[in-house]
Amino acid sequence: MGSKQWVFAFGEGDGRNKMLLGGKGANLCEMTQIGLNVPPGFTVTTEACLAYLDQGALPAGLMDEVHAHMRRVEQATGRTFGGAENPLLVSVRSGSSMSMPGMMDTILNLGLNPATLAGIIRQTGNERFAWDAYRRFIQLYGKIALGVADELFDARMAAVKKRHAAAQDIDLTAAHLKELAGEFLDVVKQQTGRVFPDDPYEQLDVATQAVFRSWNGKRAIDYRKQFRITKDMANGTAVNVVAMVFGNMGDDSATGVGFTRNPGTGERVVYGEYLTNAQGEDVVAGIRTPKPIAEMAAEMPDLHRQLMELAAKLESHYHEVQDFEFTIERGRLYCLQTRNGKMNALAMVRTSVEMLAEGLISRDQALLRVQPQILEQLLVPQLSPAFKGTPLATGLPASPGAASGMIVFDADTAEIRGKAGEKLILVREETKPEDIHGFFAAQGILTSRGGKTSHAAVVARGMGKPCVSGAESIVVDVHTKTAHVGPAVLREGDIITIDGSTGNVYFGEVPTVEVSFSQDMATLLAWADEVARLKVRANADAPHDAQRAREFGAQGIGLCRTERMFNAVDRLPIVQEMILSETVEERRHALDRLLPIQKEDFKGIFKAMDGLPVTVRLLDPPMHEFLPTAAQLELEITHLRHFREAISALQEMPETLKLLNPRLHHQYEESFGRLMDGMTEFRDTHLEDDVIARKEVVLKKVKAMSEVNPMLGHRGVRLGITYPEIYEMQIRAILEAAAECLRDGIDVQPEIMVPQVATVEELKRIHSYVERIRAEVGRKYAIEVTFKFGSMIEVVRACVRAARLAETAEFFSFGTNDLTQATFSFSREDAENKFLPDYYDAGILQDNPFEVLDVKGVGELMKLAVSLGRGTRAGLKVGICGEHGGEPSSIRFCHHAGLDYVSCSGPRVPIARLAAAHARLGEAGGSGSA
Ligand code: PEP
Ligand code: MG
Repeated sequence: MGSKQWVFAFGEGDGRNKMLLGGKGANLCEMTQIGLNVPPGFTVTTEACLAYLDQGALPAGLMDEVHAHMRRVEQATGRTFGGAENPLLVSVRSGSSMSMPGMMDTILNLGLNPATLAGIIRQTGNERFAWDAYRRFIQLYGKIALGVADELFDARMAAVKKRHAAAQDIDLTAAHLKELAGEFLDVVKQQTGRVFPDDPYEQLDVATQAVFRSWNGKRAIDYRKQFRITKDMANGTAVNVVAMVFGNMGDDSATGVGFTRNPGTGERVVYGEYLTNAQGEDVVAGIRTPKPIAEMAAEMPDLHRQLMELAAKLESHYHEVQDFEFTIERGRLYCLQTRNGKMNALAMVRTSVEMLAEGLISRDQALLRVQPQILEQLLVPQLSPAFKGTPLATGLPASPGAASGMIVFDADTAEIRGKAGEKLILVREETKPEDIHGFFAAQGILTSRGGKTSHAAVVARGMGKPCVSGAESIVVDVHTKTAHVGPAVLREGDIITIDGSTGNVYFGEVPTVEVSFSQDMATLLAWADEVARLKVRANADAPHDAQRAREFGAQGIGLCRTERMFNAVDRLPIVQEMILSETVEERRHALDRLLPIQKEDFKGIFKAMDGLPVTVRLLDPPMHEFLPTAAQLELEITHLRHFREAISALQEMPETLKLLNPRLHHQYEESFGRLMDGMTEFRDTHLEDDVIARKEVVLKKVKAMSEVNPMLGHRGVRLGITYPEIYEMQIRAILEAAAECLRDGIDVQPEIMVPQVATVEELKRIHSYVERIRAEVGRKYAIEVTFKFGSMIEVVRACVRAARLAETAEFFSFGTNDLTQATFSFSREDAENKFLPDYYDAGILQDNPFEVLDVKGVGELMKLAVSLGRGTRAGLKVGICGEHGGEPSSIRFCHHAGLDYVSCSGPRVPIARLAAAHARLGEAGGSGSA
């Protein structure tokens, strides 16, 4: 026997050591030790699992420990494992340190054999229950421990039901279930070549190994991959052996699951479902539709009161909403399991605010328990309020949000079609854990059976995907890939819309709208702002976006990409004229017409951001982006050249038609005549010659401007050096807009930012334009506009030369999209579609560096630039405006690197605000406040 302790009784295990005991095991220990009524049992550690997976055999001495602990359970329950008189049955449950609901295996009723079965029948007088438990055990053990296909048991079940005309499982009598158990034993013998093991310790030994192996099952591995669960977070599963208590021992027995608060809304009311005279899996699998817990108050008032006490005790101990399982065995309430409740964002936010008010948690805890990323769910689309359609069917509102997509009936098809980029709704009778890959691929889930705590509902809620469950009027047939709703038939590929907030299902695609923020959300984010050191700004290019960003709580604009304004329909022709100009004068003429338009844009943004800083970036993209492509122009020119020939061919057409089909010719003769008169007249204008000539000029220019690597080409500050008049127009538009706003009493704080800077000389050159125009605007308006002048840092050389850049730049803003491209030499346009997926699969990169900041490479460059820049100019303001500015782990890095602000798209601002608070609270000592 090794020196390690492999097994811990619930009364002795350390409830905080989830790594060793798994979340479930640790909780069973903790619950036992705080005096809750938990059935006795013990936990075999995750270390034993790792040793087993490593050696392919249970560690020496483990089963001896298990035997000793079984004897203690026997003592505590007064029952005997394998005993015929008063038999002890146990459940064997998986549980790792991270919750992976349904991803690993669990076996119930272990210890049943003909002798113990007889004992149970004698004890309970309930033959039906005993045979039901036995046949369930044979199936579960057969499937999990012996690897027999589930379908073989299902087929026997269906045959027995048919033979005895039983519509539902519940209609089967004790005799039928006995017959079924016999058939199940046959299946096992046929498939494994051995009789089903009757020795309970052999059952326990084999089951323990099977649960350990399920750690490396496909669905567990897929789940860990999807949710990025690393070995540091969870390594191996524990096995929990718990004395069985039965919820199906008659009408004074029940089983259920509950949340201490409503996980869909956060409301402070115990929420859940139960079934009388049933086993736990009936609730979770959705085999019978359960009753809401509120109904228990009338049905079993005393037990309902005990359940409310249990919920209150759980919350006051864990200081967190709990998701718990309970069983009532002959009037006695047992708590089988508890864990932190998975809730949607709405519920997380509301419970944070309310639990703080109740004194259950501190402000910092209220912030920290909400993961920034889940706030994205509060932006889930809702059905347009104007939509008044009639639902095709209605089920339970199991996970909020609306989604439309094509129907798929199985997870594998969902995975394939999802990868092809299709929007899908996974439609099933009920879902099982092995459908998990279908959940990842689908926009939403619809099931015809099961309650709000069914597998489909729980998993979809965790993922923030809309789900409607238990839409019983839909009859799903996965074999023919059809679903019948009354007379209507739905087929794979048909589009439906589900509304997980109401439970409604509609045919076709229904328009959706975004949601607005709740007061609770505003409260929570206000606390986040109090705590955070980083400010959060938004990237916004138009007044409307700026306004919206402000509503999301943006504390300024960190990036206004002016080229977006150039692309608007009313401006593009002028911009093109400017680009095609042959002389500076012609270019200035076009720019003069753009100036008032740009000025109005800036005024709109300044007004929307009254009192807050606005960083405007001068023109960045290569200019040919504003022109049509050479291929498009060549095609148009070819069509124009063929115009004359087309008219000649048209002239000949009536005569030819007359030969071929005189009736048709007669029918259209008059129209032909009119068309030809018009065409001939038009041809004589020779208009196309002009158009061809103009297009050829454009084509020549487009060809001349074409670059092999445009993203590394004539863009950014390089444009400002070659065509000073473009940047001058923009600088003038910014400063005149600011002057006019100031005159109107608006507090404007413009920041002029130069993109793609690599050397201080570039910056100085642009700065000289700024100084000249500042003086001109000052004279014109007799107003002194104060503003800041700064540089984007998105070129590697800029990081290295940051000390010099800071002589001229009053602020830096990291353009980490380009800086990532430059650091890796990965094209930001192509990498994500071409080779990055191979990099993740091979484990070369963990994350997409265009999404999650590459702290080790790009981050080091940023730190260098910050320190060099501040070496020259103490207090230099530094921000980030690449996509990483809205990504929580990147925000944490920015906090630690000493940045002043992050800037991200408007809808990500709330996420960034919370992430900024988390970053601050993650520092040693937190915010220093309660
Ligand atoms: C960047 O490069 O990070 C940036 C914000 O600029 P753009 O994405 O417009 O190149
Ligand atoms: Mg850039």
